[in-house]
Amino acid sequence: MRFDLSDEQIQIEEMVRQLARKAFAPKAAEIDEESRYPEENMRQLAELGLLGMLFPASRGGSEAGPLAYSIALREVAAGCASTAVGMAVTNMVGEAIYRFGNEEQRRKFLPGLATYGIGAGAFALTEPSAGSDAGSIRTTATEDGDHFVLNGSKVFVTNGAYAGVTIVMALTRKDERKISAFLVEPGAPGFSVGKAEHKMGLKGSNTVSLAFDECRVPKRNMLGAPGEGFKIAMTALDGGRIGIASQAVGIGRAALEAAIAYAKERKQFGQPIAGFQAIQAMVADAATELDAAQMLVYRAAHLKETGRNFTKEASMAKVFASEAGNRACHKAVQILGGYGYIREYPVERHLRDVRVTTIYEGTSEIQRIVISRSLMR
Ligand SMILES: Cc1cc2nc3c(=O)[nH]c(=O)nc-3n(C[C@H](O)[C@H](O)[C@H](O)COP(=O)(O)OP(=O)(O)OC[C@H]3O[C@@H](n4cnc5c(N)ncnc54)[C@H](O)[C@@H]3O)c2cc1C
Repeated sequence: MRFDLSDEQIQIEEMVRQLARKAFAPKAAEIDEESRYPEENMRQLAELGLLGMLFPASRGGSEAGPLAYSIALREVAAGCASTAVGMAVTNMVGEAIYRFGNEEQRRKFLPGLATYGIGAGAFALTEPSAGSDAGSIRTTATEDGDHFVLNGSKVFVTNGAYAGVTIVMALTRKDERKISAFLVEPGAPGFSVGKAEHKMGLKGSNTVSLAFDECRVPKRNMLGAPGEGFKIAMTALDGGRIGIASQAVGIGRAALEAAIAYAKERKQFGQPIAGFQAIQAMVADAATELDAAQMLVYRAAHLKETGRNFTKEASMAKVFASEAGNRACHKAVQILGGYGYIREYPVERHLRDVRVTTIYEGTSEIQRIVISRSLMR
C-alpha cells in the first residue's frame, strides 16, 4: 500500500478543505443553534461532484473512489459535521443504487442524487424494535398486482424529509424472514414522514421516522432481487462505516485544532497553557490517536478501492476512529477549561456532534462483534 495520495486525491482534499473552512465552518454554529438542514451546503457539494463520488461519470457521478470520498467526507466533517452525514448517506444510497439497481433505476435516480436535483438520498433500515438486530425488522411488503404494499415504520432516518429517494428494507416473505429493498419516492401513496428528532448533536442533520400505511410501491422499484435486501443493507453499511470513521477523524481534528489555537493564547500562571506538560500530553495523545485512526480509514478505503474484502477493516476503522474522535473532543473541551463548556467556542459542539459516531451505522459493540467473528470464524 502506498502512503502517498494521488495528485487527484490531493486536489480533492485541498478543494474540499477550502470549501469547508471558508463556506461551511463559519455557519456551523448557526446551523447547530437553529437545527437547520444545511441545504445550501448540500447544493454546493453537488456542484463539486461530491454527492456522487462512488459511481461513474456515465451515470452522473464523479467516480472519485472510496479513498477520495473518505478524504472529502473528513474535510466536510471538520467544517460542518451535520453536512457530512447528509453527504455520507446520499453517497451511500447512490452507490447502492449503482451497484444493485437495474438500468432504469440507475437512469432515474443517480443523476438527480449527484446534482441534488431530486434531493438527498436516505436509507431506512432501523425500526422501533430493530436497531442493532437489524434482521428482526417487521415492516412488510406484500405483492398486489404490479405493486408491493408496504406496512410498518422506520425510525432515525437521516435525510428522510429531504430525500428524493429512500431505500426501505421490508420483509417480502414474513414466514421465511426474507428482506427485500425498495426505492420509495416522496409522495408515494401511504408514505409519510414524521417530525424531526431533537438530538444532542448533528442538529443540522435531519433525522425522522417514516410511516408506511398501505403504501403502494411499483414492483419496478424493488432494488436488487427479491430477498436480497439484507445483503444490500450490510454491503451499504460496510462502505458507510468507512464514511463514519472519516467523519469522526474530521470532527476530532477540528476540535484538536481549536484546542491547540486556544492553548497558545490562553495564559495562566503567567504563561500560555500550551507550555504545561499536562496540556501537551493531551494534545500529543489526541493527535497520535487521530493519526492512527486515519491510517485505519485509509487502509479500509484502499481495500475497497482495489476490490478486496474490507468488512473487518471497515469495522476496525469505525470502532477505533469513532472512539478516538470522541476522546479527542473530550480532551479539547478539557484544554479549553470552562470556555470549552460554553457555546461561544466550537469544541462543545464538536463533542456533541462526534458522540453519535460510536452509535450509528452499527454501535461500537456491534463493530467488535463483526471483528471478532471474522477472526474466530
Ligand atoms: C442521529 C442518528 C442517525 C441515524 N441514521 C440512520 C439512518 O439513516 N438509517 C437507519 O436505518 N438507521 C439510522 N440510525 C439508527 C442507528 O443505526 C441505530 O441507532 C443503531 O444501529 C443502534 O440501534 P438502537 O438505537 O436501536 O440501539 P440498540 O440496538 O437497542 O442497542 C442498545 C445498546 O445495546 C447494545 N447491544 C445491542 N446488541 C448487542 C449485542 N449483541 N452485544 C452487545 N451489545 C449489544 C448496543 O451496542 C447499545 O449499546 C441513526 C441513529 C441516529 C442516532
